[in-house]
Order: sequence, then structure tokens, then C-alpha cells
Amino acid sequence: MKRHVVIIGAGVVGVATAHQCLRAGLQVTLLDAGQPGQAQAASYGNAGWLSPHSVLPPAYPGVWKQVPRWLMDPLGPLTVRWRYLPRALPWLKDYIASARTVEQLKTTAVALRAMLKDAPLLHQDMAQAVGVGDLIRVREVLHAYRSKADYEADTYAWDIRSQSGVTWQTLQAADLHALEPALADDYGFGVLVNETGYCVNPSAYVWALFNHSVQNGATFIQTQAQSIQYDDLGLTCVRTTQGDIDCDAVVIAVGARARTLAAQVGDEVPLATERGYHYVVQAPEHGPNHPTMFMDKKVIVTPMATGIRIAGQVEIADLDDVPNWQRAEILKQLLATLYPDLAGHIRTEHITVWMGRRPSLPDGLPCIGPASGCDAVIHAYGHGHVGLAGSARTARVVAQLLSGATPEMDLTPFRPQRFARR
Ligand SMILES: Cc1cc2nc3c(=O)[nH]c(=O)nc-3n(C[C@H](O)[C@H](O)[C@H](O)COP(=O)(O)OP(=O)(O)OC[C@H]3O[C@@H](n4cnc5c(N)ncnc54)[C@H](O)[C@@H]3O)c2cc1C
Repeated sequence: MKRHVVIIGAGVVGVATAHQCLRAGLQVTLLDAGQPGQAQAASYGNAGWLSPHSVLPPAYPGVWKQVPRWLMDPLGPLTVRWRYLPRALPWLKDYIASARTVEQLKTTAVALRAMLKDAPLLHQDMAQAVGVGDLIRVREVLHAYRSKADYEADTYAWDIRSQSGVTWQTLQAADLHALEPALADDYGFGVLVNETGYCVNPSAYVWALFNHSVQNGATFIQTQAQSIQYDDLGLTCVRTTQGDIDCDAVVIAVGARARTLAAQVGDEVPLATERGYHYVVQAPEHGPNHPTMFMDKKVIVTPMATGIRIAGQVEIADLDDVPNWQRAEILKQLLATLYPDLAGHIRTEHITVWMGRRPSLPDGLPCIGPASGCDAVIHAYGHGHVGLAGSARTARVVAQLLSGATPEMDLTPFRPQRFARR
């Protein structure tokens, strides 16, 4: 009989894992409290980057010096709900502490690179296998700086990327604007990274992976998993709002909501959410040719199948606190300054806004690996800013663990137990 795996969560990590588990010959049941690929999941509205060079966590040495300025700037990249701050402080402290030195960043980069390496090609393979190869573009992405001096101030970061094997091409102002005619003149220096890619419709991609899995034998139940039941003899079932589901293995892939399930299987993980927003406008001819990260604003603008999407920002707030749509309005204002020709084309009927929850651990790495209390339960969440890109290898590794194969990536840096000694 096939080993029966219940995957809790049908965001991109869950559906990619379902796909790989079916390929490995496992029986799959997929659970989600909502509909796969929809707005409750971070996987729905992200910036679409499949960037093997995103090996650095958002925090960096000395970041705390910038924080007051960002918080005071209404258009700034970081905001905190003040009433939530006392609860967020321990996580924020660890977040800053884990990126205090360049040596720490190098260690994180080695781990992330192992997960992200080849991400565009892995996603291209998976997308083609489920009939939506056109959703994945394997091509360069751009980093836009205001000046060469700003780029040089980031030398430590590019050096770390270079040590990871990342290559890129720098662009002086004239070349940058030849490549991106709609870009504001304020940006005078670019970095074009070669081995990258992007997804032009993350929601449709998740749906296609999900749909293909169901067509190939996976069962989907729309329900909320409440607990994972196990005893001395091993795993028994997943308890849900629709009843118990007997199984031989479980994958926790619920993104930002994993903390409770993780604790039930013996692992206290300091998972929090860095909430982010997007804003989509339909005027593709006035936007970028390449997906572009604005290094000063910490936002990404991506030409997607659904329009031009600006996504980013970090909002430190409780998981279920109401969205602050002012943040999306800020993205709109930014978009109009980054691509001045767009300003006249932003009309209310052409706009969608969204808030999503990045599942973030303070050291910038996800949790991937067996649980302490029951090794038939596998953690697979916490991918923070790189969960779309990182989902492809995560899924392969989880399927390898569940089918008794040696994982293709060293899981030591990702062990959920790494926080236990703190
Ligand atoms: C603004 C923004 C921009 C981003 N840009 C990028 C990018 O360009 N590239 C990149 O790689 N990453 C990006 N990310 C990060 C990426 O979107 C996430 O890391 C990734 O989507 C996480 O996927 P996931 O499957 O772990 O979680 P999710 O997509 O959040 O899915 C979790 C699922 O679990 C379900 N669930 C939760 N609890 C339960 C339960 N108890 N029972 C049943 N179901 C449950 C939820 O309904 C949900 O569908 C971005 C994120 C944001 C917010």
C-alpha cells in the first residue's frame, strides 16, 4: 500500500510538495482552510521573483540605524503596529541579531543558495509538467539604484552574492534607460542579474499545480487542520474541522500559521509574519520591461500577466490584524514616481490591492525537516521573502524525506530544532 501523506496548506509550498510526492509514488491528501491559490495565501500576490541570488536576509549589519528613519517616513519600507510592538520585540531583536555581522550573512547565504540554486529551471520544469510552462519566464531581473555610489555602498552584499556564484552586469545611466525607457530619471545605475526568472501569475501557477495533483490522484479537502495526533507508537491522524484523517505522514505547509501545529509536534519556532502589500495596475506599456527591484524603496515592480504589480513593504503586525490599505496607496504613489508615464494611466477600475503574510523566521531561513516529537511529521514553512522561489527545492526535499531517499540539500541549517537552545 502507498504511504499516505496529508499536506496541510495549499500555498505554493504545499501544492509543489503535493506534486513531488505524487511523482515519488505517495498517496496525497491536501488540506486548506481556503481555496488553493487564493488571496488568503502569501503565494497569491507576491512579486513573482524566482531569484537564486536572493541569498541575503532583509536585515543587515547596522540596519537598526535605518529603522527610525524608515518608521518616520510615511512612504518608507517598514511600518510597525505600535500596539503589537511589545509582542514583536523578541522576534525583532533576533532578526537584527542574526544579521549583525558579514560572517553571519555569509552563513545564511550559503544555506539559501543551496535552496534557491536553479529555482527558475526547477519551476520551469514543474510548470511545464502541469501544462503552464508559459507562466514561468527564465530571464534577467534588474536592481535599480539611484547612483553608482549607492551600489558601491552595497558592495558587501554583492561580494557575498559573488561568493555564492552569482554573476551580473552593471549598467551606467544611459544603458539602464535604453533598457528601461519608462524608468524615472532619478535612477542612474542598474544591476542586471543573469540566472534568474519570474512567474507572471503566481495565483494561476498555484492553481495549476493544485489542479494537476488532483487530476493525478490527490484528494483535496477544504478544512482547517486543528491538530496533529500521535502517540508513542507514532502518528495517528490529522484532526480537522471536518473530522479526523488517518495518515502515515504529515507535512506542515501552512506558511505564517505554522506555529501552533509545530508546537504540537514538539518544536517551538519563533515564526512571525512580515506582512506585505501589492498594487496592480493595467497599463503594461508604461511600465518596466524587466522585473525591477528598487533598492532604496525596497519594492519590486513586475510586469505580470494581470498587469504591472508593485509589491513589497514590511508591516510588523499581528497575523489577523486588519490590513492598512494606506500601505497599498503608498505603493501606488511610489509606482507613479518610479514610472512617471504611468501616473496618467492609473485609474481606479484598473486596480487591485492585496495584503499578504510572509512566514518569517528571525534568521531568514525556513524550517524544513522532521519534527522532534514525531519524525513522520515534516516541517516546510517559514520561507519569508523567498517562498515562491524556494518552494521548488523544498518540495523535492520533502518528497525525498517522505520516500526514504537522501535529500538533495543539506538540511542542517533549516532544522526546526535550531531555535531550541535559545
Ligand atoms: C508582498 C510580498 C511579495 C513577495 N514577493 C516574493 C517574490 O517575489 N519571490 C518569492 O520567492 N517570494 C515572495 N514573497 C514570499 C512568498 O509569497 C511566501 O514566502 C510564500 O508564498 C509562502 O508560501 P507558503 O505556501 O509557505 O504559504 P502560503 O502561501 O501563505 O500558504 C499557506 C496556506 O495554508 C493554509 N492554512 C493555514 N493554516 C491552515 C490550517 N490550520 N489548516 C488548513 N490550511 C491552513 C492557508 O489558507 C494558505 O492557503 C512575497 C511575499 C509578499 C507578502
